[in-house]
Amino acid sequence: MDKITRKAYAKINLGLDVLRRREDGYHEVRMIMQSVGLYDTLTFTRREEAGIVVVTDKEELPGDESNLIYKAAKLLTETYGIGQGVHIALEKRIPMAAGMAGGSTDAAAVFHGMNEMFSLGLSMEEMCVLAVKIGADVPYCIKGGTALAEGIGEVLSNLPGMPGCFLVIAKPDIDVSTKFVYENLHADRLEYHPDIDGMMDALGNKDLEGVAARLGNVLETVTAKKYPRVEEIKAFMKARGALNALMSGSGPTVFGIYDSKERAYETQEALEQAGLAKQVFVTDPVNEKR
Ligand code: ATP
Repeated sequence: MDKITRKAYAKINLGLDVLRRREDGYHEVRMIMQSVGLYDTLTFTRREEAGIVVVTDKEELPGDESNLIYKAAKLLTETYGIGQGVHIALEKRIPMAAGMAGGSTDAAAVFHGMNEMFSLGLSMEEMCVLAVKIGADVPYCIKGGTALAEGIGEVLSNLPGMPGCFLVIAKPDIDVSTKFVYENLHADRLEYHPDIDGMMDALGNKDLEGVAARLGNVLETVTAKKYPRVEEIKAFMKARGALNALMSGSGPTVFGIYDSKERAYETQEALEQAGLAKQVFVTDPVNEKR
C-alpha cells in the first residue's frame, strides 16, 4: 500500500488519581481513559527515497524533530531498519496543550500506519512496549477505547466502554503544559482521591449517572487553582443540563456529560457566545475504532 489514512482520536480522563511521586520524578497514576470522537487525520505516503517528512496544517506546530509524529516515525524506522522513507501529513483538529493527548494520539497513529504500510507485523503489545519511549500515554492511545492506566500510564487494563451520551468539550484560550502541572502537584498532600474503583463498577453496570457522579481529577488542584476559568466552565455546563463536568488530564480542557443532545448543542452555543472557550465541540465516547 502506497497511501494510508488514519484517524487519531483524542482522549478524556473520567478519573485521574496520582498515588505518589517516584524517585525518578515520574508520577504513579491511576487513570480512567476514554477515547472520544474528536480526531486528527494522518495521511501516510510511501517515499521512493529514505527519510521522514512531516507536514502539518498548523503554523504553530512544526513537522520537525520536536513533533511526536516525527519521533515515532524515526523510532520505528531505526528499530525495524525500514529502508524506505515516509511522508506524513497531519490535519490537526484536537486542541493542543489541552489535556487531550493530542500529540500522543498522533504518535500512536504513526505506529498503526507504519506497521501497516511497511508490513512490520507488530502486535498491539509489541507496539505498546516500544511506544512508551515516546510518551507514557502513547501505549493507551495505540489501544484506545476505555482503559485503566496505571504505573506512569503505560500499564493498561481494558474496561467496559462508557455508556452512550453526548460530550461537550471546551478548551479555553489558555495553554497548559503537562510538565508544569505535575511539577506543581503536591502528590503527598492531596486531600481528595477520586473513586476509581467505583468508576470501574459504574462502567461495568453501564450506569451513566454513576459514571458522572464519580468524575474526579486531582490535577484540578493545580490547573483550576491557577486558571479560575476551568471551574467557571464546569459550573456553566452543570447549570445547563450536564450530569457532571470535569477537567481532562492536565487541562485546561473541560468536558461535560449530557444525556440530551439538544442540551449539549445549546451549551456549545452558549459557551461560545459567553466567550468562555474558543474551541467547543459536541461529540461522544468512542468505544470501538471507527
Ligand atoms: P497530554 O494530554 O498528553 O498532556 P496535551 O493535550 O496536554 O497532551 P499536546 O497537544 O499533546 O498536549 O502537546 C503538547 C505539546 O507537544 C505541544 O504544545 C507541542 O509543542 C508538542 N507536540 C509535539 N508533537 C505534537 C503533535 N503531533 N500534536 C500536538 N502537539 C505536539
